[in-house]
Amino acid sequence: MPDFELIQIDENSWRIEAGMVRAYLFAGTNKAMLVDSTATNAPLYDLVKTVTDLPVMLVNTHADPDHIACNEQFEAAYMHPAEFALYNKSKKKDDAPARPLWNRDIIDLGGRTFEVIHIPGHTCGSIALLDREKRVLISGDSISANPIFIFGPFRDISALQLSLELLKKRSADFDSIYTSHGEYEAGTEQIDMILECAKELMAGHLTAEEPPFPLPAKMYRYNGAGFYFDPAEF
Ligand SMILES: [Zn+2]
Repeated sequence: MPDFELIQIDENSWRIEAGMVRAYLFAGTNKAMLVDSTATNAPLYDLVKTVTDLPVMLVNTHADPDHIACNEQFEAAYMHPAEFALYNKSKKKDDAPARPLWNRDIIDLGGRTFEVIHIPGHTCGSIALLDREKRVLISGDSISANPIFIFGPFRDISALQLSLELLKKRSADFDSIYTSHGEYEAGTEQIDMILECAKELMAGHLTAEEPPFPLPAKMYRYNGAGFYFDPAEF
């Protein structure tokens, strides 16, 4: 099985499928932006270079290991400074040094811009990227139809709820959400589904299930959304 599958979404957008996680590539007229570098240490930079000659900026939605495995192939890794602690803890020696992206920064690729939205919760420095022109939000792990990891250090479900409320307020600006796990595209209703699930979980209404793989957490699901959560953190 190849490490990566590159699939074109539109004339200057691609998704890079890498097993259980995906990255995205967007091109403008001056530069390209790779969003995340997957869980597979393989020649991702070379793959990106097969579709664009432009300089490539690496942005990490967050620094969990399944999003940074090819960071050593890049000169810099842009992320929110609230993510630096997690990145510096989990990065390999030769991984790109972290560079800051602040809330409301505009990433200008030339003819195409993305707004950085800081959405703490899944991790302290998680970000979403809003392409207002194409009406797409790139969500990292904070929005998914798959259960969202929300147990252990650096994660907080109440912060995630506030971040999702913030994205809901911005949802007039996008129709489509590009996610990192499960189906690549979700509708804006997925935000409501995750918020509902969080509310039911915090109210103690959901039944703990065993996760499909070993995890020091339980799985909770409700109406098309879910969490891996440690009930001891209640
Ligand atoms: Zn992930």
